[in-house]
Amino acid sequence: MRSTKAIIHLDNFMHNINAIRAFTKPGTKMCIPVKADAYGHGSVECARAALECGVEYLAVAAVDEGVELRENGIKAPILLFSLCDPEEIKTAVENDITPFVFDAEYIDLFAEEAKRQNKKAYPVHLAVDTGMGRIGCLEDEAAEMARHIAETKVLVQEGTMTHFAVSDDKASSSIEYTKLQFQRFQEAIQSIKDAGLNPGICHCANSAASLDLPETHLDMIRPGIIVYGYDAGDVNSQYLKEKETPIDLKPVMTLCTKVSAIKEFKKGMSVGYGRTWIADRDTKIAVLPVGYGDGFVRRFSTSGIQVSINGKSYPIRGRICMDQCMIELGPDTDVKRWDTVVLFGCKSDGAVMTAQDIADKTGTISYEITTVLTRRVPRVFVR
Ligand SMILES: *Cc1c(COP(=O)(O)O)cnc(C)c1O
Repeated sequence: MRSTKAIIHLDNFMHNINAIRAFTKPGTKMCIPVKADAYGHGSVECARAALECGVEYLAVAAVDEGVELRENGIKAPILLFSLCDPEEIKTAVENDITPFVFDAEYIDLFAEEAKRQNKKAYPVHLAVDTGMGRIGCLEDEAAEMARHIAETKVLVQEGTMTHFAVSDDKASSSIEYTKLQFQRFQEAIQSIKDAGLNPGICHCANSAASLDLPETHLDMIRPGIIVYGYDAGDVNSQYLKEKETPIDLKPVMTLCTKVSAIKEFKKGMSVGYGRTWIADRDTKIAVLPVGYGDGFVRRFSTSGIQVSINGKSYPIRGRICMDQCMIELGPDTDVKRWDTVVLFGCKSDGAVMTAQDIADKTGTISYEITTVLTRRVPRVFVR
């Protein structure tokens, strides 16, 4: 196996799911998003581990992601969080993937295909846009759409959902906005009931709402980033501790590699493309076989990221290349060729930075750091 790999701690993943479940009332269902290859962690293995923890639903964003789960023997219900292409509907229905629907055209496409395949009571979830500005009908159209689903005869409204835009932000205007979204959602649910229809499983809580807003849990929660071990924005471990509802989330992924060469550098020698770093002393430079082709992206080059070897931190020098990057070991180093280098991840693996730290330094969110790891990085699953 190559030196560069992502260690996926399924034990931490399962610990996180169980810790999150403790925030819910008994009987609250859990839907675990394994979209985008489980935020880069490996969807099949994460899906299996989540099901072992007793979660009821999985979720993907593309039909092919759902097919991958089915091909690997996963029988649990799979929600499709994004709209698919009309061309994919046949495959979606063949694989019993449960779509979010919200308009007559898309509902009818699914109904026709479900009929064609002789499906009985094919489940769909009605999406309500209460303020995310993404998929969903407006709250005052919810009853009409619920009726449209019922009238297809072949589809059943198994659930009703909405999605929060700012539940992870504790600014007062955002707190108000989330309240407004939740109120609109409850009005939509009530209007469906008033029309004599069944909204089914009602769900809206993402990670932040799962930990911070128990009143929004309703019948099911959909926590994503927190199951992979990172904070949901302002709803971080410090905030939850102060609120006296602490949680101990453990990062699931450690990205590591090995020192593939150590080079003696004389003062004045330069590193990499563009010669952006020039040694101001005699020193030692280590070459690491990891680069932006692995998802260790180029803009990390100058953002003050430190990697760790045997518990000590070392800075990146020069620009990260597609397949390699360089770090400075300093003149008097005890680092040896083939030593393990931890780029980010669990403290227990010797990481000095988490994906969250890298995200903070590079102006993004932890989601992106793990999700952009490419196929070239083998995922090694441990428990
Ligand atoms: C991705 C996603 C989630 C999970 O979001 P997190 O911020 O990772 O908790 C929940 N619901 C929907 C519809 C999503 O697309």
